Amino acid sequence: MKTWEDVPFAGYIFEPGNTEGYKTGDWRSRQKPVINKEKCTFCLLCWIYCPDGAIIRKEGEVEVDYYHCKGCGICAYECPSGAMKMKSEFEADEV
Ligand code: SF4
Ligand code: SF4
Repeated sequence: MKTWEDVPFAGYIFEPGNTEGYKTGDWRSRQKPVINKEKCTFCLLCWIYCPDGAIIRKEGEVEVDYYHCKGCGICAYECPSGAMKMKSEFEADEV
């Protein structure tokens, strides 16, 4: 029988540089960020502040990588123009 010392720590990730292998998928918080591209000024604050590198710069626009976004809301909090808003997963799918 295993003792507590034999059981690995839950959630412990041993290998560095492994983000690609840990996609957020559907365990994000119940909200996700949605960008209004008409309001976005491409200031890139969301790209700078996102702790998960889930904001992608693409041809003068920003996009959210929903495979890695965990729905923390920092990007929406920092967005100075109100272009980034948090919406419930259900609402966001209707946009
Ligand atoms: S909600 Fe959080 S994880 Fe998702 S894009 Fe915004 S800052 Fe990044
Ligand atoms: S912080 Fe807001 S305005 Fe700036 S790039 Fe991101 S979505 Fe656009």
